[in-house]
Amino acid sequence: MSVREYPDLETFIGDVRKHNPGQPEFVQAVQEVAEDIFDFIADKPQYHEYQILRRICEPDRVISFRVCWEDDQGQIRVQRGWRVQNNNSIGPYKGGIRFHPTVTESVLKFLAFEQTFKNALTGLPMGGGKGGANFNPKGKSDHEVMRFCQSYMTELYRHVGADVDVPAGDIGVGAREIGYMFGQYKRITNQFTGVLTGKGLEYGGSLIRPEATGYGAVYFLQNMLATRGTDLSGMNAVISGSGNVATFAAEKVTQLGGKVLTFSDSQGFVHDPDGIDQDKIDWVKEHKTKRRGRIADYVQEFKNATYHEGKRPWSVPCDVALPCATQNELDGDDARTLIANGCIGVSEGANMPTTLEGVHVFKDARILYAPGKAANAGGVAVSGLEMSQNSQRRSWKEPELQKLLLDIMQGIHESCLQYGQQSDDYVDYVRGANIAGFKKVADAMLAYGVV
Ligand code: NDP
Repeated sequence: MSVREYPDLETFIGDVRKHNPGQPEFVQAVQEVAEDIFDFIADKPQYHEYQILRRICEPDRVISFRVCWEDDQGQIRVQRGWRVQNNNSIGPYKGGIRFHPTVTESVLKFLAFEQTFKNALTGLPMGGGKGGANFNPKGKSDHEVMRFCQSYMTELYRHVGADVDVPAGDIGVGAREIGYMFGQYKRITNQFTGVLTGKGLEYGGSLIRPEATGYGAVYFLQNMLATRGTDLSGMNAVISGSGNVATFAAEKVTQLGGKVLTFSDSQGFVHDPDGIDQDKIDWVKEHKTKRRGRIADYVQEFKNATYHEGKRPWSVPCDVALPCATQNELDGDDARTLIANGCIGVSEGANMPTTLEGVHVFKDARILYAPGKAANAGGVAVSGLEMSQNSQRRSWKEPELQKLLLDIMQGIHESCLQYGQQSDDYVDYVRGANIAGFKKVADAMLAYGVV
């Protein structure tokens, strides 16, 4: 039999939309991948016979549960928690946990879908998953966060395991939350296993895990710039976000001779024309992560900087841009503004920060544009290395891990070149990443038959 699974892309996307009502982020993520896959598989009947496209867009399972906890005033609060186990064809489910009021099933399904291809690109044996809750850690005491994390894990523990599903951090989930969740898992199961990554160094964590996503996104950008015979030295960079990914991306840009001009958070952005050097980055890390403050406070500390309430940083002229905050934070107009102002490279630290229209604008302008599933894979790659260290009950030294991270990011770049190089020498990194990730997962699915 050699029938095409769907006659055209529109019919396929229409079907996905119909079967996932009210889930725009998930449909958007599927469309971005399908735009490239559809024509890649056109002359490959095996994928059609086994309905790979339809099957790869259906999560293995979506677990949703009630999370009750008590706040400091003694009030009972109720949140919804999820774990999306998207695809474990090439390894245990792996992907972060997000605590943010905007978390929905659609957001977690899009993240788990992206994660599946990203993890495949790293070359490590990891399937794709994602979890989270519509819980806002902002303004909560440590004890409130601890009670919430314990309650979340009291349900999650039965669905995860070192060889089953290994969650990590994401927005709103850092070292503190991972510690509380790991402690509760250990307490319930009486097992000390590598069930979470991003752990503290004292209890099985890996060196360079906190740095890995931001550093990796900058390494990927360097690889792209090298294809045009240039590098970051002397370049101006605009960065969004001011959390884990943004601050470590800024650190690496600075180390490589670039000048970082902006940071942002959900309220607005700061522009520092003097450049945000290492001392200022350290101040932001301390202020945002430890004191859980607002980026607006930066201008009280550094007087030449300006704060722009309710705005995103894409209007600041730059050579390169690193969106490192959240999904859909850079739209078509922002993309056009960046290009008009001379931006030549965009490397996504965040997941799906650019809207579909923005992606098309970047591709049409033929600038260097790396989608998150390729550029931000350094974090999960080092998480994969943390899993290996936990299995072997040992820890690798920093230089070894730094080299592995560099090699993995270079390997992902090469995979993108393999499948994304166009006849006019332009590299379509979106297409390269989508096809390289898809092929690996799809071929494993074919090997299993219909399951
Ligand atoms: P953090 O929680 O450390 O920081 C998130 C940052 O994004 C904060 O500055 C936050 O501002 C801002 N932000 C959150 N929501 C919004 C919003 N709706 N609009 C504008 N800004 C927002 O998270 P991470 O740095 O870990 O994650 C950032 C991105 O990177 C996410 O897309 C995540 O999925 C992705 N990523 C993270 C990895 C990791 O290793 N941590 C790995 C791969 C991808 P505020 O403080 O105001 O909330």
